[in-house]
Amino acid sequence: MPANWNIDSWKSRPASQQPSYLDPQELNEVLAALRLLPPLVTSWEVDSLKQQLAKAQAGEAWLLQGGDCAESLDDCQSESIASKLKVLLQMSLVLIFGSGQRIVRLGRIAGQYAKPRSSDTESRDGQTLPSYRGDLINRAPFSTDHRRNDPQLLLRGYERSALTLNFIRALSEGGFADLHHTENWKLTFVEDRPEFERYRELVNSLGDALKFIDAISAKPIAELGRVDFFTSHEALHLDYEQSLTRESVRGTGWYNLGTHFPWIGERTRSITGAHVEMLRGIRNPIGIKIGPTAKPEEVVDLVRLLNPENEPGRVTLIHRVGQGKVETILPALIEAIQDCRSQVLWVCDPMHGNTVSTTSGQKTRRFDDVLAELRSAFAVHRSCGSRLGGVHLELTGEDVTECVGGSSGLTEDDLHTAYNTHCDPRLNYEQAMEIAFSIANEIKP
Ligand code: PEP
Ligand code: MN
Repeated sequence: MPANWNIDSWKSRPASQQPSYLDPQELNEVLAALRLLPPLVTSWEVDSLKQQLAKAQAGEAWLLQGGDCAESLDDCQSESIASKLKVLLQMSLVLIFGSGQRIVRLGRIAGQYAKPRSSDTESRDGQTLPSYRGDLINRAPFSTDHRRNDPQLLLRGYERSALTLNFIRALSEGGFADLHHTENWKLTFVEDRPEFERYRELVNSLGDALKFIDAISAKPIAELGRVDFFTSHEALHLDYEQSLTRESVRGTGWYNLGTHFPWIGERTRSITGAHVEMLRGIRNPIGIKIGPTAKPEEVVDLVRLLNPENEPGRVTLIHRVGQGKVETILPALIEAIQDCRSQVLWVCDPMHGNTVSTTSGQKTRRFDDVLAELRSAFAVHRSCGSRLGGVHLELTGEDVTECVGGSSGLTEDDLHTAYNTHCDPRLNYEQAMEIAFSIANEIKP
């Protein structure tokens, strides 16, 4: 356990973005119930992810992290979960072909239910209500009742996370994930889409390679029949995160067992704040979002505090500075980390620095901006003698219309067709696959 840390030490630090509840007694009862419920993941799995992230850091693997901006309780349905898995599996196949490396698959899934907000309130048609903070805290519809913080939602979030994870585990272990049967990963609407055609060609060549491997192997290779799939979410609601943070039965320290990979958001990464204090004491691999205002010294201090032993795989820095700013902001961050010899995995989130509003006030992102930030990030890391080791995306396997652009040429006028997100706009299937093909091109050996 790190010096001066205990499971409650975050409580003496300022905690931003925390909801307040009308009935603290009800909150305490819910937290007590959560503390008795079984963990969602195990410390062995968490350690295994950390080892895989260490490989990505060493240049031997690549991280694909993606999913909803905000999961919703109502969307815990087989179709929606399976389609997220399908798009991530298809993307990872494209990346394996591109890089010849192992791809670490990490969903923003099974617990991504709490959202930081830039304003505490939201006004519509003259009415002002508390902002929507994610289904773990309140509900999205704009009414007094829905926007009231409800402690029972913590239990509902835990349960939906467990149900989601149960389905993911079954799909990853069983026939669904078998590389011999990638037809299982096909989404129903994609038949005539150009990105799917490109993908189909790749799958055909995979079929030939697999026939060859099967012919020369004496027994079936288990690795081809299953996949590793890990979960992540923003560790935002500290009471909730604490209730799932447990001491390992092996005596290897404290782990957040509500997810494999908790991350600290751009709004809560203050070095003196409660979120950093909470995550300082756990053994999980952790992510830190880095926005355009982050100072290099600040990032170095954070990394040192969160990883004093310089343990490989422990810290992933997820930069999200916005296209057009990568060249000016990123080199100093990379150099500062190189100078202090901290081991980190660098990941680019090309979504959160590129959110814009349409003329009608809807949040969107331009596909070209997302791609431009990603390409610049590859180039800047290369020119600094560093390596971009992964990507962090908001995406869905469904045919939504939330981001504009991409090969199908979605425009602002199309956004109303299927704008389903509860929070930030996500890449749809085609846009996500297009990004995967571009990355594959960048990470070619
Ligand atoms: C997010 O990942 O949805 C998010 C809020 O990101 P950031 O902390 O980078 O703004
Ligand atoms: Mn988001």
